[in-house]
Amino acid sequence: MHELVELASSVDRASVYRTVALFEQLGVVERLQTGWKYKLELSDDFHEHHHHATCLLCGTSLIVPEDMAIEHHLQHLARGLNFQLERHQLELQGYCTKCQELLKD
Ligand SMILES: [Zn+2]
Ligand SMILES: [Zn+2]
Repeated sequence: MHELVELASSVDRASVYRTVALFEQLGVVERLQTGWKYKLELSDDFHEHHHHATCLLCGTSLIVPEDMAIEHHLQHLARGLNFQLERHQLELQGYCTKCQELLKD
């Protein structure tokens, strides 16, 4: 862990941003926008496709179980637009179990 901290502090932030921008261009990572913040995640080509449910309060991101009905329906909708669907991102936004409790009080 100590080595990792040392590495992080020795890396030039500008070159990290450049690398991230390059990875985005190459489709290695995807930017997931949550309000004014974003997260980077490996693209579908590099991991199994899934959707997210992100909490608007604490930012916790849950992985939504795969649902082939949704996948097929999106393909169907795209075909209706004569659009060749290559990939999609789907994000549910709301409140996690913990934050629902907080909001009650
Ligand atoms: Zn939450
Ligand atoms: Zn999907």
